[in-house]
Amino acid sequence: MARKTPFRRPLIIIVVCLLIGAVFLVFAPHFVRPRTDNLATNSCINNLRQLDGAAEQWRLENGFATNRCPAFEQLRVYLRRLPECPQGGSYSFDTNSGLPRCSFPGHVLR
Ligand SMILES: [Zn+2]
Repeated sequence: MARKTPFRRPLIIIVVCLLIGAVFLVFAPHFVRPRTDNLATNSCINNLRQLDGAAEQWRLENGFATNRCPAFEQLRVYLRRLPECPQGGSYSFDTNSGLPRCSFPGHVLR
């Protein structure tokens, strides 16, 4: 019986490592998901900035007031491609401020 003791220690270490690994696998998505949400939100805010810049250029070239809202087709000239929300929101312009906005919650131009 006394001979078995030295072999048990590595076994215990392996079991503990497997348990830690299992716990990590279970909880890892909880740590990763908010980060990917943040990336998508930042990407969308970047899109809103591009739309805002394009709209500003459109207003300047046409002599319109700062809250005049362009149609998206009118911005094609100023953008390489029309941006799309990475989380499926749709873009529109606020008729009061003239700022672009996204329908997805939390995607707000700051
Ligand atoms: Zn969005």
